[in-house]
Amino acid sequence: MSMRIGALEVMTVSDGRLAMDPDRLFASPQADEWRRVVDLDHAGKVQFSVNCVLVRSGERLILLDTGTGRDEPLLAARYGGDCGRLLESLRALGVEPAAIDTVVVSHAHGDHVGGATERRGDDYAPTFPNARYWLWEGEWRYWTTPEAMAQAPWLAHKLPPLAEHGQLNLVDAEVEVAPGVRLIAAPGHTPGHVCVALTSGSEMAIYTGDLLHHPAQFEHPEWSPGFDLLPEMSAESRRRILDEAHRAGSLLLVAHLPTPGIARPNAAGWEAVDATR
Ligand SMILES: [Zn+2]
Repeated sequence: MSMRIGALEVMTVSDGRLAMDPDRLFASPQADEWRRVVDLDHAGKVQFSVNCVLVRSGERLILLDTGTGRDEPLLAARYGGDCGRLLESLRALGVEPAAIDTVVVSHAHGDHVGGATERRGDDYAPTFPNARYWLWEGEWRYWTTPEAMAQAPWLAHKLPPLAEHGQLNLVDAEVEVAPGVRLIAAPGHTPGHVCVALTSGSEMAIYTGDLLHHPAQFEHPEWSPGFDLLPEMSAESRRRILDEAHRAGSLLLVAHLPTPGIARPNAAGWEAVDATR
């Protein structure tokens, strides 16, 4: 499933689905509003798709987020066992890990950075051996403190190996990481969360990472879920980027909306679309 944004070829690539304890979502000032709109599965969990994005820009192959990976039992326990399928999905498109030259990690939560490295013997190494990885500097600073590493012990296998292998670019500016592929600061869900603008000619799409988690947030950008670390800042980023995207007629590529996770602007706000157009 693929679409064009001008000269860019853009594909949603599924990592599978995750199941989350709803209390993590509902722990916010809008707990009652969330409860009214969120469906729970038979086990009382919230199901989210996990969508990554693959972009072909000329000869370049860019991957936006890496899913949960497969080699961290703590992450499987946290998200359920139905994710970690990114590499299978890439291979189904004929794309081997070595072919990816650029990886953007929107933020360091396990369902976005978990697939960034993989176990090799007793060690961990970048899953994409020829890629430059991009992460916001403030995100690295926040998650590499001893306190954060104690809360999320799997990160010791996910973040430091990228730097140790010399493949990590930390940035604090909205740089273009490949032609037509630009980071956009969107803090709040985590301190250094980024979105990614894909622009070519007059066309645009924005990969939103975890800027939003539910279609209700299109109408209510002020609703921040309980797991947003800085909920007021998250709401501000959400309002700003949704407004800009709507004005620009940009598509949205959303990590956790039902696959393929694509929304387009209409007169009333946003509507889900499939990837064929
Ligand atoms: Zn996420």
